Amino acid sequence: MDRRSFAQGIGSAAMLSVFPKRSLSAEASEAAHPGKIMAIAAHPGDGLFTMGALLAQQAERRGTAVLVNLSLGERGAPKNTPVNQYGEMQRAATEKAARLLGIDAVFMDYPDGEIPFNEESALRVCDAIREHKPDIVVTHWGGSWHKDHRNCHRIVRDAVFFAALETLERSRAAHSVSKVFYADNWEDANRFVADTYIDVDPVYEKWLRACDFYPMWRGQTGFFRYNDYYGSLSVMRRCVSGFKHAVALMADESQRTQRLRFL
Ligand SMILES: [Zn+2]
Repeated sequence: MDRRSFAQGIGSAAMLSVFPKRSLSAEASEAAHPGKIMAIAAHPGDGLFTMGALLAQQAERRGTAVLVNLSLGERGAPKNTPVNQYGEMQRAATEKAARLLGIDAVFMDYPDGEIPFNEESALRVCDAIREHKPDIVVTHWGGSWHKDHRNCHRIVRDAVFFAALETLERSRAAHSVSKVFYADNWEDANRFVADTYIDVDPVYEKWLRACDFYPMWRGQTGFFRYNDYYGSLSVMRRCVSGFKHAVALMADESQRTQRLRFL
């Protein structure tokens, strides 16, 4: 097998749909009810830039999608902009982006830089999972230099566990998430291995317009060129996926079991 046929093989075998392969009747049911994806991000920029295209694609295929923001990312404020004012700018940009992409946005308002990993935060996210009942949850990978991102990863793993626990009494009934994936984020790149590709070409241009609502996307708050990086990343991911524009994810290790039946 040469490199080209290897890449084409990945393109056909990788995720055409984010849902697991099941029986024909289950697939027909999924086509009629594409389900719900919940993205959980430490900061709104992470949510839109690394998970927004996936959420938009879910809305495009008539599923539903919700972005949960643990903080407003207010401490990324540029000079001469008060932190609180910048936080409200981030909230407004996220609400505007969510409207454009046809997704919901939820804000938890933990202080940026101080998102706590504890029982309270895990139970709060558990409650959000029980309320929204997502089939799939996407969040930060834990190999990050940023403490908020690492804490978000740990919070979500515990929250998914709590949400499914029938004997844990909360205001809403238990809910089991089918799959958990981690997003392709330049700040969370340590030991990140892309293994799942999603075709986001139908929403690529719309997603770029949504990201442009954020000053940081245009490089107005720091050195990093978010627009160049994430715009190019979706093109780079196309080279191995075969899709025109793709988002790469990493599956939770519990989902990596493969069953082979030799004939
Ligand atoms: Zn962040």
